[in-house]
Amino acid sequence: MSRATAADTASVAIIGAGPCGLGAAIALKQAGIRAVVYDRSALASSIASYPTYMTFFSTAEKISIGGLPFVTAGEKPTRREALAYYRMVVQYFNLVLRLYEPVSEIVREGEYYVVRSQTPRGDVETPYDAVVVATGYFGTPNLLHVPGESLPHVQHLYHEGHDAFRRDIVVVGGGNSAVDAALDLWRCGAKVTLVHFRERLDANVKPWVLPDITNRLADGSIAGQWNARVTRIDVDTVTIEGPSGPRTLHANHVLLMTGFTPSTVLLRQLGVTIDADTGIPAHDRSTMETDVDRVFVAGVLASGYDANKVFIENGRGHGALIARRLSAARPLAARG
Ligand SMILES: Cc1cc2nc3c(=O)[nH]c(=O)nc-3n(C[C@H](O)[C@H](O)[C@H](O)COP(=O)(O)OP(=O)(O)OC[C@H]3O[C@@H](n4cnc5c(N)ncnc54)[C@H](O)[C@@H]3O)c2cc1C
Repeated sequence: MSRATAADTASVAIIGAGPCGLGAAIALKQAGIRAVVYDRSALASSIASYPTYMTFFSTAEKISIGGLPFVTAGEKPTRREALAYYRMVVQYFNLVLRLYEPVSEIVREGEYYVVRSQTPRGDVETPYDAVVVATGYFGTPNLLHVPGESLPHVQHLYHEGHDAFRRDIVVVGGGNSAVDAALDLWRCGAKVTLVHFRERLDANVKPWVLPDITNRLADGSIAGQWNARVTRIDVDTVTIEGPSGPRTLHANHVLLMTGFTPSTVLLRQLGVTIDADTGIPAHDRSTMETDVDRVFVAGVLASGYDANKVFIENGRGHGALIARRLSAARPLAARG
């Protein structure tokens, strides 16, 4: 374990190099406050893990950060364009990143918050004046708790459909991710069955996608199993329990698009109150400061279990609120 001294370090540690963590780093830099952004993985790793050929529903302007123009070839940005843009943002603003350096713990020591991160050479502890936790939504997948869930042909993220050509795929879920995956898989020549525990698709399915999936389900191109719960998964079958009793579906691959639960471990370590029902960390929405002094949240993590409330469009501005709050704290601003 090695330890940096406070004099060597930046004032603020930002945990998470997604769009909202990067937005916070830019806002702090523009306010003259030095920040370091940690990520357990690559830059903007959530977006990197999205379906390979996805197109954002937002326009480029709405997911741009730091006022840096985002020019795209089409009407809406693609995943690839967004990744290139966020790489360019980091270069342009000369942000300080510590990628592939997971933060495992943050503890308060006197006036400082000591961030413990994992590096190939061992753990490193670095003290900061303040921390911004922007670790996003992809903490742990929501499990079904059924036998076979951890088999290798069962996945929680969808990338692309080519490999599924002429394969039987069971997609579990009724939200946007399940619908997008089911449609893409079907267009790639897979035989798709959508299994959902409700009687219909979720209400938040994007309105412009709804006619497509509704028509595919109505004409039988994609099979739908409603009010049905998965009870077990085996190497080439999925067993469900529906209104007409148990049923076994053949499945070469199983996609569990059942969502994720954001990790609040770091916030809890710091003593931040997390609402038991909503998962929302206690915070002042005008500053993004939590109920622990100089501990902030940014991005989708601020919306708790409901990832549909905060996304890039409305989370990219959190950094400006944090910068304004920290600029008002004189000793901190002076160190920048
Ligand atoms: C298919 C799809 C399409 C979408 N389209 C849009 C759209 O069109 N418009 C829009 O506004 N939003 C869209 N969203 C939502 C948007 O992508 C998220 O809201 C956004 O990524 C949230 O940004 P964030 O910075 O809060 O978190 P994230 O982008 O999730 O970044 C969090 C980062 O924290 C890192 N991290 C986590 N834990 C640690 C740790 N312990 N130590 C270090 N690093 C850690 C992760 O590796 C990750 O890189 C879409 C989402 C999906 C799934």
